[in-house]
Amino acid sequence: MMQQTKKSYVSETVARLKPSGIRRFFDLASSMEGVVSLGVGEPDFVTSWSIREASILSLEQGYTSYTANAGLLELRQEIAAYLARKFHVEYDPEAEILVTVGASQAIDLALRATVNPGDEVIVVEPSFVSYGPLVTLAGGVPVPVGTTGEDHFKLRPDQIERVITDRTKALIVCSPNNPTGTVLHKEDLEAIAQIVKKHDLLVISDEIYAELTYDEPYISFAAVDGMRERTILVSGFSKGFAMTGWRLGFTAAPAEILQAMLKIHQYAIMCAPTMAQYAAIEALRNGEQDVEYMKKSYRRRRNYFVQSLNEIGLSCHMPGGAFYAFPSIRATGLTSEQFAEKLLLEEKVAVVPGSVFGAGGEGYIRCSYASSMEQLQEAIKRIKRFLERL
Ligand code: PMP
Repeated sequence: MMQQTKKSYVSETVARLKPSGIRRFFDLASSMEGVVSLGVGEPDFVTSWSIREASILSLEQGYTSYTANAGLLELRQEIAAYLARKFHVEYDPEAEILVTVGASQAIDLALRATVNPGDEVIVVEPSFVSYGPLVTLAGGVPVPVGTTGEDHFKLRPDQIERVITDRTKALIVCSPNNPTGTVLHKEDLEAIAQIVKKHDLLVISDEIYAELTYDEPYISFAAVDGMRERTILVSGFSKGFAMTGWRLGFTAAPAEILQAMLKIHQYAIMCAPTMAQYAAIEALRNGEQDVEYMKKSYRRRRNYFVQSLNEIGLSCHMPGGAFYAFPSIRATGLTSEQFAEKLLLEEKVAVVPGSVFGAGGEGYIRCSYASSMEQLQEAIKRIKRFLERL
């Protein structure tokens, strides 16, 4: 019988997507013993007890059905009050807020609801690894713009202007940034807003780390003059409230856009998990003190860790937010991937090579300092020994 080559059922678009570069390091690190991991991008705190309890109570009361597609109205009202109270942006809970399965789903929805085939979306890099692939899956074309360590990874408006074409639809910005920790100040946001207005762009503003700024109050992109009408604000509970496993986020946008996102959400997801939504109500009502406590703790660790990196010879700017340090490893002459692999194999410290975060990331490594002080001290000891041997 003639042998037929089996055809692939996987779509060409998906087949062409590169798997996330972070995964390989996680797999390698998890197969080893005694690893100090600075690799994962999540809080090292367990979700506050009162939040967990609110979820348990909802289960005891039997609230186990679907909620409204957009999420519990009570939760959307709390989100609207929270956004107004903390970030001075006003949204109608009935028409302009959607509860999602993490900020991840909100980014996906934002792109799928707005991108036409072939539209270009500017992605400011180094960035969270999902943006580019999600633009592609939405039928768009990601256009990376690399920021540099010399600028402390701040986006310069002229960099956006240089890549704008008549196909440019949107810009994805993230402040505080993963992986660089960079926070955009008011004047940075205003300068970007000028270009956005001039070229009639949409902004997808990933504000998942909004709770974690250490040196100044957070400014939402939607709060910048004239930006609310052209911004899709994406946020959630994973980082600030230490709730990564609950898979709960939200998005706020002008009604026309939000309703388009809701249309996809109702077919693809129905609604975010009910028990997680009850937990989130409690987080927004009574979680502020715990967030402040965690934030203080990250700040202390940031100060220690970044100062220590500089002392042992890895030059690192002081990140204003999130929980990542992004030191330069250029002086070692290794690529970021070589550095990360060698450091893991020789000293059992897991970090993420900067190259996986796109343009501008090569020459750096991402270290999450959401780890215990003892682990951070141990990591510094090992990295120092590693550098001395190089
Ligand atoms: N945006 C950024 C910048 C992130 O770092 C992450 C998580 N690593 C997400 C979005 C996704 O968060 P969530 O858990 O809410 O889906």
